Amino acid sequence: MTVAYLGLGANLGDARQTLKDAVVCLAQQHTISVLAKSSLYRTAPIDAGGDDYFNCVVKVDTTLPVRHLLALCHKIEHQFGRERPFRNAPRTLDLDILLYGDQSIDEADLTVPHPRLAERAFALVPLVEIDAALVIPQHGRADTLLAGVSHQRIEKVKSPCQCPMLNALTAGSADKGRCE
Ligand code: ATP
Ligand code: CA
Ligand code: CA
Repeated sequence: MTVAYLGLGANLGDARQTLKDAVVCLAQQHTISVLAKSSLYRTAPIDAGGDDYFNCVVKVDTTLPVRHLLALCHKIEHQFGRERPFRNAPRTLDLDILLYGDQSIDEADLTVPHPRLAERAFALVPLVEIDAALVIPQHGRADTLLAGVSHQRIEKVKSPCQCPMLNALTAGSADKGRCE
């Protein structure tokens, strides 16, 4: 089992509902346990136009090797209608692997820690909310990076998810498999 942190973002359609549904979808995977979920945040688009984003981060325990986890992220994005017409285009759902254990991976189609993690408030703020003392390989403590992104607009819009389905899944008392 490996502890990983996934970053979720959306700014097309009912983005708030999509993030909630996507976290439930992750929790329903037999290969994933959701250990923690950050609050929901509203954030300004970075290097892009379009509507504000909604973002959150989940901490998971997974049996999946990292490449399988990436493939699952792509599959779930697709299920939620993700299209990629151009770089940084508005999206129904983005699922990024922010951290995977303490591993550093630098390959053509997979970089971990996520290559832009340290420069994004929408990833760092929810990460630090979940784990105040989190250490990011190659960067050090996540909370020491917050000052460098303090100019980016980010606003907490909701406390950690009260969704009954997610709470049941996180507690292990609901059936898995409905979103696979
Ligand atoms: P950004 O990478 O700046 O957040 P994005 O999320 O909009 O941009 P995508 O179009 O979703 O970019 O992904 C482009 C590619 O990034 C994916 O096909 C994937 O192979 C690659 N990638 C590399 N590292 C990661 C990672 N840690 N998590 C998710 N995708 C990654
Ligand atoms: Ca992304
Ligand atoms: Ca992505």
